[in-house]
Amino acid sequence: MQTNFSAAQLADPHVAESEKILRKCVHCGFCTATCPTYVTLGNELDSPRGRIYLIKDMLENGRPADKEIVTHIDRCLSCLACMTTCPSGVNYMHLVDHARAHIQQTYKRPLLDRMTRAMLAFVLPYPNRFRAALKLAGLGRPFLGLFEKLPALRPVAAMLKLAPASIPPASPLASPGTHAGKGERRGRVAILTGCAQSVLDPAINETTISLLTKLGVEVVVPEGEGCCGALVHHMGREGQALASARQNVDAWTRAIEQGGLDAIIITASGCGTTIKDYGFMLRLDPAYAEKAARVSALAKDVTEYLAALDLPEPVRKPGTVVAYHSACSMQHGQKITRQPKELLAKAGFVVREPHEGHLCCGSAGTYNILQPEISAKLRDRKVKNIEATGASVVATGNIGCITQIASAAKLPVVHTIKLLDWAYGGPKPEGVSERVLAAAE
Ligand code: SF4
Ligand code: SF4
Repeated sequence: MQTNFSAAQLADPHVAESEKILRKCVHCGFCTATCPTYVTLGNELDSPRGRIYLIKDMLENGRPADKEIVTHIDRCLSCLACMTTCPSGVNYMHLVDHARAHIQQTYKRPLLDRMTRAMLAFVLPYPNRFRAALKLAGLGRPFLGLFEKLPALRPVAAMLKLAPASIPPASPLASPGTHAGKGERRGRVAILTGCAQSVLDPAINETTISLLTKLGVEVVVPEGEGCCGALVHHMGREGQALASARQNVDAWTRAIEQGGLDAIIITASGCGTTIKDYGFMLRLDPAYAEKAARVSALAKDVTEYLAALDLPEPVRKPGTVVAYHSACSMQHGQKITRQPKELLAKAGFVVREPHEGHLCCGSAGTYNILQPEISAKLRDRKVKNIEATGASVVATGNIGCITQIASAAKLPVVHTIKLLDWAYGGPKPEGVSERVLAAAE
């Protein structure tokens, strides 16, 4: 694509980076076929190619964002299916991240939208605040019907619908410390405790620590870790996202210096995509660029790490039919497609892949709160495809997808690690009955 940026514009490294990305696009439109919003809405401006044109026009003319571009960029899930499809290697992720930061800086949203976004950015990345907010959700539930009728308050209704009726207690394993590996030592890793996942399902990281230590891996929960920054990054709040990134880079750098790390284990693929991008996000910060690149290189999804270990034979051979839902951040963001399925199959599960596996389930960070109508359409489409597999249980590697799919599916939805741990002798995953696990093909 031809671009017309001035030398003065290109002196801004963010604009220069976006210009490089724009020039790679040959407008072929292959990406439209796999874009969930184009497939759902059928509007070229809700396709990757349409958004690329809108972003080019905004940046080239150096103008503030307007209502039209905000509408279409807000509808983008950042699912990155377009990046998997694109034959020209267009880095849509970095382009849309830049556009979102530009929108945040130059566009004044309506008051309620601003308030909703500010509240999400204030609450979600902080486990104590999020836990308190979930407890308060019970007070809002009686007004759900009213919130749903008022378009401006639909995000509040979406939040109330997603909030679980009960919240598990905080996990003691989320506190800083070291969990020694059993038997022959096979590695030393740090684990990201995270934010929303640690509140909604602390058992995911507990199970991960249990399985890794059982396999001889020492697991460190470093002092000072926090939210990875993905949730606010996708809202264009660059300052807050970079502050989170720096905090984690500091925490993991200390852990590296205190005893070395073979990997930084991440159990939510949405976080993994962002942490693997820390090197890019902090490339212009001389104090952090090198450290951030080292952290990104060490970041591994738990299934990516396990697949590289020589796993023993499982204790159980379940034969349970599992529908594997590959989160967009797993398959498109991190290009991890093979490992989770292979691990499940090796552990004795029968793995089935739902039709249209490349399409997002509509969770996408805060998307299911901020764009509830499109999100619900994508969720229902996903659940229909999952249920058509005839599986007894759904496995996936991202807490957002677990919450989203479980809100509509009839079958249990669990993190992949819980099924693996069960096969390797761990406890039965909560919410999955013996009957389901015993259901052989
Ligand atoms: S597939 Fe790639 S090159 Fe083709 S229009 Fe989409 S982004 Fe541009
Ligand atoms: S990130 Fe997903 S929703 Fe956004 S343009 Fe690409 S394919 Fe479409």
